[in-house]
Amino acid sequence: ATPTAVMVGTGVGASQGVLIKGGQALESAHKVNCIVFDKTGTLTVGKPVVVNTKLFKNMVLRDFYELVAAAEVNSEHPLAKAIVEYAKKFREDEENPVWPEAQDFVSITGHGVKAIVRNKEIIVGNRSLMFDHNIAIPVDAEEMLTETERMAQTGILIAIDREVTGVLAISDPLKPGAREVISILKSMKVRSIMVTGDNWGTASSVAGEVGIVTVIAEAKPEQKAEQIKELQAAGHIVAMVGDGINDSPALVAADVGMALGAGTDIAIEAADIVLMKSNLEDVITAIDLSRKTFSRIW
Ligand code: ADP
Ligand code: MG
Repeated sequence: ATPTAVMVGTGVGASQGVLIKGGQALESAHKVNCIVFDKTGTLTVGKPVVVNTKLFKNMVLRDFYELVAAAEVNSEHPLAKAIVEYAKKFREDEENPVWPEAQDFVSITGHGVKAIVRNKEIIVGNRSLMFDHNIAIPVDAEEMLTETERMAQTGILIAIDREVTGVLAISDPLKPGAREVISILKSMKVRSIMVTGDNWGTASSVAGEVGIVTVIAEAKPEQKAEQIKELQAAGHIVAMVGDGINDSPALVAADVGMALGAGTDIAIEAADIVLMKSNLEDVITAIDLSRKTFSRIW
């Protein structure tokens, strides 16, 4: 393609809300034969809501949620925001609740949070967070987790003073059209893979709903990037589509990093292409544009 063709292609992209940062990105996109999708906020809406609570100790829900919210209000994670939003429902000062103070707050990336609230140690997160603190998961809690994950929801464990006290089910629905995008990519001979920090159960259920066969779950940000490099080493030309800070190393590692416009600044910065409208269909728009620009002799 001539420089003029590349300019035209980039311009057409921009007019459709597909921001291509330079000719190299536009060129690489037509060779892509494998796309790695982040789950949360990319394939799913990214606005999780609490849909179910189960307590295993005799405790008032309001008191339970007060402790959990006091810990989670210190976290930026979308799951934390969902939990705090839900906790407000139990309050009379719903608009602007004053949560008890949390001491020694720690955020454990990819696992959850912990803090001391009202002299109790509150630990909120996934199975491995409990494992790392030597907290046993009772059978009824594990059953609730498994059932939650089977429904493509995320289960969060809450331990108070090292005892699992409750499980929350959090739902983050698929974006409309996500399934179709995966199926169109397949017809374009592009293989789709899902990568997520979420657990295997939820990840596989979401992948099943969207029509993705290959899943990488419980992946830390650096492991997401490692997976990209492994696919490249196996001869694939890889695009990564993501929205979060935790996707940035993978966006950089990929041959073509695509960030959603609604994503975090760090992801947008790390990407080669920004999908301004945050529509998954624009992954196809970008590849199409590149194929048209580079398969034609101008
Ligand atoms: P993703 O790649 O899906 O965005 P993360 O790597 O951010 O996921 O988190 C992985 C898992 O760690 C979550 O699914 C959740 O179980 C747990 N987790 C992370 N942060 C929190 C938090 N603030 N509160 C509760 N659980 C959390
Ligand atoms: Mg995400």
